[in-house]
Amino acid sequence: MLTIDQVNCIGCGLCASLCPDNFKINDDFKAEVVDGDQLKSCVQEAIDNCPVQAIKKA
Ligand code: SF4
Repeated sequence: MLTIDQVNCIGCGLCASLCPDNFKINDDFKAEVVDGDQLKSCVQEAIDNCPVQAIKKA
């Protein structure tokens, strides 16, 4: 399961731009997971590049 720490996320938009099928920026300017059952390979790139390590895969 993919989760995003809503406290740490700074809403930089990197994950959504790297992987728009699996992340979007919500109305609170935080990232949220889209279609968590169909994760694309870019998810790992987003995890590795999130500046605050807010994306966790469990
Ligand atoms: S890359 Fe990290 S900090 Fe940036 S929007 Fe995504 S989860 Fe938030």
